[in-house]
Amino acid sequence: MADGATNQSLLDEVKRRYAVAITPAMEQLIDPADAADPIARQFRPDARELMETPEERLDPIDDHAHEVVEGVVHRYADRCLLKITHVCPVYCRFCFRREMVGPGKSEAITPEKLDAALAYIEGHPEIWEVILTGGDPFVLSPRRVREITQRLAAIPHVQVIRWHTRMPVVDPMRVSDEFVAALKCDKAVYVALHANHAREITSDARAAIARLVNAGIPMVSQTVLLKGVNDDIATLEDLMRALVAARVKPYYLHHGDLAPGTSHFRTSIEAGQDLTEALRARASGLCQPSYVLDIPGGAAKAPLSRPAVRMADTTCEVCDHEGNWRAYPPAAATEG
Ligand SMILES: *Cc1c(COP(=O)(O)O)cnc(C)c1O
Ligand code: SF4
Repeated sequence: MADGATNQSLLDEVKRRYAVAITPAMEQLIDPADAADPIARQFRPDARELMETPEERLDPIDDHAHEVVEGVVHRYADRCLLKITHVCPVYCRFCFRREMVGPGKSEAITPEKLDAALAYIEGHPEIWEVILTGGDPFVLSPRRVREITQRLAAIPHVQVIRWHTRMPVVDPMRVSDEFVAALKCDKAVYVALHANHAREITSDARAAIARLVNAGIPMVSQTVLLKGVNDDIATLEDLMRALVAARVKPYYLHHGDLAPGTSHFRTSIEAGQDLTEALRARASGLCQPSYVLDIPGGAAKAPLSRPAVRMADTTCEVCDHEGNWRAYPPAAATEG
């Protein structure tokens, strides 16, 4: 173990390398008596971030390779990412874009680059959905959000606008009525909330979520599976129940990406499979996210759950929620 002085100089080095920020709402949730506090672990810099493993990469999911114009990542034909800021209200220590986010990087997309990004989307009729991300796009002012929303909604083939954010949890007051009004348009608008621990779903967070959902904006969630934060079944179950009770449908449980200096957060895939199966056995279908991995190299998101069907020459079995294999008529499975 490093002594106090050495540890301080290591932490200074972490802060020079990666952005650091935490909001008052998250600071308040930290139990100072708990050295392993799951909220602190997500936001407080840690000397272990300086340890990089050979598998880790600066751009773990190779967004760059699919960046067709600045700010637009077009990997799947029917949808693209539009990255409109590099800034976040908090900096998660495990962020998969940690090399790209931070206050030092150009804050919001410039008007010229936004024009070019929207021209690309306009010129690609296969783009059915635009996913606004960053950084955290909810740092933008309502005026900017309204402008971007209206311009996207005016593109005939864009039917769905999806915002990826952590704001309703980390700074719920910023999701004001004025902000919510700016998101609305005559196309479908979804908000995907990034949350990793049930304690993040505070009464203020529930109120922010309610402002969005009551405005007719459906919400889904994304959670990163993190060692020491949510990698035990009780914590994961509490989180999924808290989300569903707040009217947020769990969408993805992400296996940790190979971002530099994040190995102390990564679980094994087997541990993730055990957890998702335990969740399936314990909780409502509404509480089940898909467990996925972004394949390094940017190929795609891959489902990680264990196969639930076993086919052989003359038998077919499917797995129930408790892990028991049940027979299914092989003729029906193979179309007779
Ligand atoms: C994850 C991702 C999406 C969104 O994928 P969904 O499975 O629809 O949530 C879109 N584009 C890129 C480049 C992505 O990495
Ligand atoms: S809010 Fe998202 S983009 Fe920002 S630091 Fe956290 S994980 Fe990264």
